[in-house]
Amino acid sequence: MDGFDFQVEVKRTNRKKSVSISLHRDTVRISVPRFISDTAIRGLIIKRTPWIKKKLREYSLRKTIKPTKYISGEILPYLGRNYQLEVINGTDNSVKLIGGCLVATIDRNKSNTKNSPKVLLENWYKIKAEKKLTEKTDYFSKLIGVYPKSLTVKNYKSRWGSCSIKGDLSYNWRIILAPNHILDYVVVHELCHLLEHNHSKKYWQHVEDYFPEWKNSRNWLRQNNYLASL
Ligand SMILES: [Zn+2]
Repeated sequence: MDGFDFQVEVKRTNRKKSVSISLHRDTVRISVPRFISDTAIRGLIIKRTPWIKKKLREYSLRKTIKPTKYISGEILPYLGRNYQLEVINGTDNSVKLIGGCLVATIDRNKSNTKNSPKVLLENWYKIKAEKKLTEKTDYFSKLIGVYPKSLTVKNYKSRWGSCSIKGDLSYNWRIILAPNHILDYVVVHELCHLLEHNHSKKYWQHVEDYFPEWKNSRNWLRQNNYLASL
C-alpha cells in the first residue's frame, strides 16, 4: 500500500474477524477481514502511526547488531539517538556530529589501519564515553558519599561495568550508545557496589534511594544487551 513513508503489506483474509498490525523487520503487516475498505485500512494505519514509528526506530537501532562496517549511510547510535554515518575524505582525521549525521573525515593519504573509519569512530566513542562517565561518576559519588579508587573505560564484550573489592570501577565504552539516563543507572549501579559488594536486597535498596527508576533501566539494558558487544 502506497502513501506512507514506510512499507505496508496488506493481507485480507476470510478467517479473520479483527484487525492486527505487526512489524516484520521494517515492514508493517496489517491483517484485516476481507470486507474492510482501503480507506478504512488507511485510517487504521494513520491511527497507529506513532506506534509504528516508535517500533521502526527501535528496529533501526537494533539493525546495528550485525558487525558494523562503518560505511556511509549506516545508522549508528550515540546517547540513545540514531545518526546516519557519513564518511568523507579530507586532510585530517575527525568525527563530528552535524545535525542528524555523524560525519567522519578520513585522511586517505595516511594509509594505515589506524586510519580506518572503524578505528576512528571507536576512538571517538571511547573518548566521549570516558568524559561522560567521569562526569557522572563524580556527580553520583558525591551524592552517594562513596569514592572509587580509579575509573577506566574498557573494551568489555558482554558486560556494562564492574566494581572491584578494592574500589576500581570499569565501564564498557559501548554504554555511550545508550540513552543518557541509562548511563546514570550504570554509574549508580557500580557505585552502590562500594556500599554492598553483591546484589542483595540491601544493595538494591541503595540503588533505589539514588536512582528510583532503576527497574526500567535494568530492563532496557536486558532488552538491548546486544549493544554491549557491538
Ligand atoms: Zn552489579
